[in-house]
Amino acid sequence: MPPQSAIIIGGSLSGLLAALTLSPHIPQTTILESTPAASTRHSQAAGISPGPDFLAFMARHDRTGRAYTVGKAPASVVGLDGAIVKPMGAVLELSSWSVLYAILRANYDGFSSVVVPEPPSGVAGGTYLSGRRVVGVDLSDEKVVRVKCAVEGRGEEVYEAEMVVVADGSYSTVRELLFPGSRRRYTGYVSWRGTVREAEISEATSEYFDGALKMFMGLKNGYMLVYKIPSDEGELRPGGRLINFVWYHEMAEGSPDLKMAMTDINGKEHFNTVTRDLLQPQAWEKQKAFGVPQVPLPFQELLQTATSIFITKINDSATSQPVVQDRLFFVGDALRALRPHNAQSTNQAGFHCRLLEQVILGNMTTKEWQHEVVSQGRITGEMSTFIGMMGFRRKFAMLAAYLRHLRLVCVYKFVGFWGWLFRGRKSTGYKEFLNN
Ligand SMILES: Cc1cc2nc3c(=O)[nH]c(=O)nc-3n(C[C@H](O)[C@H](O)[C@H](O)COP(=O)(O)OP(=O)(O)OC[C@H]3O[C@@H](n4cnc5c(N)ncnc54)[C@H](O)[C@@H]3O)c2cc1C
Repeated sequence: MPPQSAIIIGGSLSGLLAALTLSPHIPQTTILESTPAASTRHSQAAGISPGPDFLAFMARHDRTGRAYTVGKAPASVVGLDGAIVKPMGAVLELSSWSVLYAILRANYDGFSSVVVPEPPSGVAGGTYLSGRRVVGVDLSDEKVVRVKCAVEGRGEEVYEAEMVVVADGSYSTVRELLFPGSRRRYTGYVSWRGTVREAEISEATSEYFDGALKMFMGLKNGYMLVYKIPSDEGELRPGGRLINFVWYHEMAEGSPDLKMAMTDINGKEHFNTVTRDLLQPQAWEKQKAFGVPQVPLPFQELLQTATSIFITKINDSATSQPVVQDRLFFVGDALRALRPHNAQSTNQAGFHCRLLEQVILGNMTTKEWQHEVVSQGRITGEMSTFIGMMGFRRKFAMLAAYLRHLRLVCVYKFVGFWGWLFRGRKSTGYKEFLNN
């Protein structure tokens, strides 16, 4: 029988995907999110390319009927003159974090926002509690897991449930609580991201970036992608959208430039992201001065005009044990933080949650779930590293990542075949993940 209650730790995209997946089967679901309700965490204007697992999830669970992508964009590499030199073959659907978040929340707890002012009736009816920072997880009782939260101005609160899903991101607190000293490695590069409204840039430049994802690889120590996304208010129509850039740039650990960029306006050093409201203006000015002379003209105008700049260190991290006691499950970036180059993180979370439903329904064991999510994560992770190294034009690192990817595909295919031969059960597997 499915558990009667579940706590989801972390209320970003993975947490909401998990909560929506579980709520038809579990009467009481509660999300505990550390960010206070009125915080800026929820409007970084970050572009997200939702992949096939995420799209399949939405087709099944979204009752708002609201469009959320600006359409399909073919990816291509451009030269210094701005002309396309190489189509990449990939076509991406493009959306943004804030729009996806608003739609998922409307479906989960009927949250009304500018994106979905009138949430649909008959939503999942779950509970979303902001301002709850999880500081402890107690698994000693056989029947319930106890989750301790720090609540600003109110001390601590304890919540109980039969099952817990951990979706607290790549810097997972719960992972650190359960497995202290978990491995997290800085890759040696960061992403600078920013946006500008279409209306605030010249018509020619806006048109240049229309209906496409353009990649410029001629930058020293990095490369840059540009594509259009919905506005924070969910505007998808021409004129109201945002032009979004992602600039991957190598910054050595311990270097003065990295230290300056990761130190906010209040002098606090961050280990993951410096949000757009906290970034020191001089850090961006320095980065911009370095990049502008090197990029094609439309990219130059974009960098000169863009606001809402923020920086994220790209890290490799994964939890060593995705399931604990058959009742605590890691999902999304908390399970494995993929490098963002192949835009698979949200899709990966969709995959984790889709299979988790099969565990709840008794169609899959927790061991099988663990095998599937670990194999998919490792294989997708190496592919993403390969794409990233291609962007950085590091041929040996590219080759090494590709060989690791191939080796993993062979190993997991073999394990899948073995399972089928002896247990008569086919691996859900990587192939389905890709072809869904
Ligand atoms: C440069 C870049 C580009 C990207 N592009 C894409 C893309 O194109 N496509 C894509 O799919 N993904 C992309 N991503 C990844 C994406 O932003 C997310 O990582 C992904 O959606 C998975 O998010 P998550 O919910 O697992 O983690 P997060 O979004 O990090 O959410 C974790 C949540 O847990 C909360 N939390 C943390 N600690 C606690 C605690 N102790 N108690 C309670 N709550 C807590 C946090 O406040 C947060 O809300 C990109 C990332 C980067 C850096």
